[in-house]
Amino acid sequence: MVKTIFNNIYEGYAYSYPHKHSYRRLNNLQLPLLWKEERKDALFLYVHLPFCEMRCGFCNLFTIANPQSDMVDAYLQTLERETMAIKAHIAPQAFGQMAVGGGTPAFLQPHQLEKLFTIIRKLGARPEDMPSSFEVSPATVTREKLRLLNEQGIDRISMGVQSFVETEVKALGRPQKNNEVYAALDLLKQYPFQTVNIDLIYGAYAQTLNSWLHSVQEVIRYDVEEVFMYPLYVRPLTGITKLEQQQEDNRFIFYREAKQLLLSSGYRQVSMRMFRKEGLIHKQTARSYSCQEDGMIGLGAGARSYTRSVHYSSEYAVARHNIRSIIEKYIAKPHFNEVDYGIELNKEEQQRRFVIKSVLHGTGLNLNRYSTLYGNDAMQQYPLLQELVTAGMALVQNGILRLTEHGIDHSDAIGPALYSTPIKQLITEFELQ
Ligand code: SF4
Repeated sequence: MVKTIFNNIYEGYAYSYPHKHSYRRLNNLQLPLLWKEERKDALFLYVHLPFCEMRCGFCNLFTIANPQSDMVDAYLQTLERETMAIKAHIAPQAFGQMAVGGGTPAFLQPHQLEKLFTIIRKLGARPEDMPSSFEVSPATVTREKLRLLNEQGIDRISMGVQSFVETEVKALGRPQKNNEVYAALDLLKQYPFQTVNIDLIYGAYAQTLNSWLHSVQEVIRYDVEEVFMYPLYVRPLTGITKLEQQQEDNRFIFYREAKQLLLSSGYRQVSMRMFRKEGLIHKQTARSYSCQEDGMIGLGAGARSYTRSVHYSSEYAVARHNIRSIIEKYIAKPHFNEVDYGIELNKEEQQRRFVIKSVLHGTGLNLNRYSTLYGNDAMQQYPLLQELVTAGMALVQNGILRLTEHGIDHSDAIGPALYSTPIKQLITEFELQ
């Protein structure tokens, strides 16, 4: 039987757990000690470049538009200092996956991109040997940059397009021209990247079902390997909160129609947001990175790093002047051997994270693995899991709990419903700057 057990389908995007709004000041934790007991043979390397050529009205990411070139150069110099400190204090053995994001890292000039990859390699990371992703925007794509990314071993390019209808992107506070989008897609097709991903947004002001499906048709026509469909969330301090436009919430209808279109066009659904072409093969590493069990090293202001018991980063802000001052603080940082902002995860939160990541991210929750790691029965510990099964939103097969199609549709309700009470409290009390 299938039924709905949530009042609000669009509660929030459980991209990571605990959410960054639960981070607070920490008491200067020593980096070597934090990583001493961690496994370091399949780490995730995330590099954050907090720069874009424009600030989109819907975006709450840690980024600023059009910084001076000397700020970018100074940032790269600091990134190099941070890298050398990480090498000395953490001594990563091997990376299983890598992503360069932001912001729009393709905002960098070619000589700055060269420098960026020199820094990445100094850490011992070789993009050509692992799944390696890089974010671009239509306006920052050039032949020279794509050649460089390809030569450096990047195999996945992710481009935020959001919509192929100019009035829609304008209403989203992103003045983007379609000819720029098509030119970027044409150029991308000329390079042998294994995966091209396009991000789209549904629920935009002035969007109709037809105009939304037109955007989905365009990514299908371009035969891209991956599509991410993001529901629009109007977030505090972002540009579109000022527009005060009201319209009916059609997000779920738009989502379902687009899903059907993609499924009937050779894509399979990996998660609520992610659709991937059937039969894609990914680079193999000695050991694959597991988001539930392996750590993440974040480089740069705004990048998060995860050990089992501590998640940390620089401070977080959305308003331009606050982001700018955090970046300046990062550039002026005298050393990188301790951590002063983040959250310590007790055993209960570590277990909860394992459950949330597993349930929401395609792999499913391996109940035996959970019990081996934590000595508990997840179904008993989290009654919501049983409720999901009863409601037809999840199935248990061969010891793995996986969301059904109906469950995947409700991911943005299920994730937040699994948050602990103390984390919910911290998120509520967070003062966004
Ligand atoms: S949506 Fe992308 S391009 Fe726009 S401001 Fe955010 S990171 Fe930059």
